[in-house]
Amino acid sequence: MKYIQEYRDAHLVHAAIAEIRRTVTRPWVLMEICGGQTHAIMRYGLDQLLPPEIELVHGPGCPVCVTPLELIDKALAIASQPEVIFTSYGDMLRVPGSDRDLFSVRAAGGDVRVVYSPLDAVKIAQHNPDRQVVFFAIGFETTAPANAMSVLQARSLGLKNFSVLVSHVCVPPAMHAILSSPYNRVQGFLAAGHVCAVMGYWEYPPIASLYRVPISVTGFEPLDILQGILLTVRQLEEGRSEVENAYPRAVTFEGNRPAQAVIHQVFAVCDRKWRGIGEIPQSGWRLQSELLGFDAEQRFAVSEIQTRESPLCIAGQILQGLKKPDDCPAFGALCTPQTPLGATMVSSEGACAAYYRYSTKYLREMEELR
Ligand code: SF4
Repeated sequence: MKYIQEYRDAHLVHAAIAEIRRTVTRPWVLMEICGGQTHAIMRYGLDQLLPPEIELVHGPGCPVCVTPLELIDKALAIASQPEVIFTSYGDMLRVPGSDRDLFSVRAAGGDVRVVYSPLDAVKIAQHNPDRQVVFFAIGFETTAPANAMSVLQARSLGLKNFSVLVSHVCVPPAMHAILSSPYNRVQGFLAAGHVCAVMGYWEYPPIASLYRVPISVTGFEPLDILQGILLTVRQLEEGRSEVENAYPRAVTFEGNRPAQAVIHQVFAVCDRKWRGIGEIPQSGWRLQSELLGFDAEQRFAVSEIQTRESPLCIAGQILQGLKKPDDCPAFGALCTPQTPLGATMVSSEGACAAYYRYSTKYLREMEELR
């Protein structure tokens, strides 16, 4: 398959690993921002192939994982209302709220539907004029353009029964929060290639120079990830802190300007809570004032939500690179993909799910127990 198989070529992977080994002389901690990259690293065993000097920690770039518990509980409250058709990407249905998930709401008779695009939710609203259709608009900069388009489409169709429950988050403020923490361990970043395909990487040079950390825009196939690691380690070894693009086949410095324009037409910057991490200033998007008529939080009375997070879950520390999933006492025992206590065990991009599925250390321990 073009642009896939050649980036999984075993000979080239080993050559890239050899080049990283020749480059590294001392320990470095790198964070891959995106959960998709975490899964690729674990799936292809790249963490096992890298020299021991390089430690990879896993960042907060999993939209399902960082959607705040309050928003999940609001989604559950809205989806339980009889006049509502609640639409969402599939991953969100199993994410635990304080006491249940969207699957439980559906099992109890709620009309909860999985859609593959927010525009499908708009169509559902067109076909069901006597029902309220709500779309759970979560995600990073990657999903924001399509989610924004759904609002513009609903407005141009004059739909009065469509609204969005918005929980958008942005990468650069999260990088600031991680790097300015007194507990920070991250010395270099692999930036998320798909986010940069939309936003470009013009926001990153000030971060690299302020905190003196190299940042490499990185893709998702094994060779993409190794190229990102190589560029980052090379910078660290040479004492540089610049932004380099290891994913030029998809990313330009400016990014997708029309997509950025649609985002800014529909969304305004706001403070946002991240699940397990807390509030990060100016780290999210909400609807622009003139579009608040499409805001599900305003349309439904769901402001008095009391949340209850599992006291065992350390996902917030994992998403800041302070702990690894197998540091969690509940990992693989009380918390599994079938019985998740936190969102990072549910999402297809969650670090805990990646370790559960691919970690050779964990799989070996399970094998020994049999
Ligand atoms: S293993 Fe489960 S309880 Fe532990 S951090 Fe991950 S999601 Fe939370």
